[in-house]
Amino acid sequence: MVFHEGIGYKFNTRTAPLGADRTDQEVSPLTPATGANKNGKKPQPAVPEPLTADPDAATREPERAEWTEPYNSFNSWKGLMYYPEYQGIVTEKFLPPIEASIDPTYVCNIDCVWCNSWRILHKSEKVGHKMTTEHLLNLCGFLADWGVRGFCFAGGGDPTLHPGMWEALKLIKDKGKQSSIITNGIEIRTEERRRLAIEGCRWIGISLDAGTRETYARIKKTSVKKFDMIVENVRAMIEMQKQTGARCEIAIKYLIHPSNEHEILQACQLAYEIGVPHFHARPAASENIEGLGEVLKFNMDLVNEQLAACMKMQTKDFKVFGVRHKFNETMNLKHGFSRCWAAPLTIQCGADGYVYNCVDWRGDPNYVLGMHYPDPSKILEFWGSPKHVQFLKDVVVDKCPRCTYGIYAQQIEHAVVGDDMCVNFP
Ligand code: SF4
Repeated sequence: MVFHEGIGYKFNTRTAPLGADRTDQEVSPLTPATGANKNGKKPQPAVPEPLTADPDAATREPERAEWTEPYNSFNSWKGLMYYPEYQGIVTEKFLPPIEASIDPTYVCNIDCVWCNSWRILHKSEKVGHKMTTEHLLNLCGFLADWGVRGFCFAGGGDPTLHPGMWEALKLIKDKGKQSSIITNGIEIRTEERRRLAIEGCRWIGISLDAGTRETYARIKKTSVKKFDMIVENVRAMIEMQKQTGARCEIAIKYLIHPSNEHEILQACQLAYEIGVPHFHARPAASENIEGLGEVLKFNMDLVNEQLAACMKMQTKDFKVFGVRHKFNETMNLKHGFSRCWAAPLTIQCGADGYVYNCVDWRGDPNYVLGMHYPDPSKILEFWGSPKHVQFLKDVVVDKCPRCTYGIYAQQIEHAVVGDDMCVNFP
């Protein structure tokens, strides 16, 4: 079976699966998780910082409002529902991951200025890889049978550019599991695709990231027509979703960056006008961009003013989420936990056949746990193994970029390891 379509597949000898001697690998520009710092010393666990997540800030600090309805998908306190998985991590008996993050293809049709998959899409040995449809379906089938509950098709590339993704949505639904798509929305352009997306997904996040065609074209290095196409595609999906009554939440997503921070309100107004139920804004993660590593300077007054205005536009059918509780006051990197705990909540499967430790290190050879290609069942040989457990312990958190699961790591540290919430007393 040919794993990659369109290009010859070569095993990347720079990348060793978990258990191989990672010190032999070519050193990435990003610091590897070898367990030793630059001085060759094992990192000492830091004293956990106090919890800083404040998802209820909406009602107390209007200028830092995140949301008004606490029961929402972006509220990280839902992590407390993962208590069995948390306990499994702490006791070193990992359960199957809750979610599979699947990158079917390392191909994209635009080029965002802040792309956090830069290390994938701008490296010749990664860009262009894609799974065969046969393997994609095998992988999804195996993961669903193993116990994975949610499948997020994302990238590393735009997942809708893989023709097999639409078939995978059907397979996952047939197995009684849920899917989601994070996409730029350009390719959801036929009635059949829109139907498959709406009927197969619990949610779809469309990255619009601009309030005008001109800004969109500039920050995505593409044509203004793409902006119009996306708006049209979202409009059509909303219409279809209303007609079918499918439980699929469609969100317009907005990554805030200095190049587009002035158009948040405009994009929110557009989302409202289109009729999407959710508008979701959060800062771009500049430190995740390999080779850039800059700390972005946001105009916080401008951002906060606009988000406050967006919050005021909310109705029972239109909700705004300004997710800033994962970041510091200037919307930049913060960790607030002493070690990597939460990565096993999700399995990150790359288009290159590798399983990576987490979504934030996708595509980095130093964070490979093993391979899902050609036989997905081999995942069971390394998932939760002593080497996997040790891998997490060896991660140097200070060298990590923005951690998508940082709040979950804090919860594990405080609610499970520390029992700070007295779990046995409701
Ligand atoms: S980014 Fe987060 S999940 Fe990933 S290795 Fe670092 S601490 Fe772990």
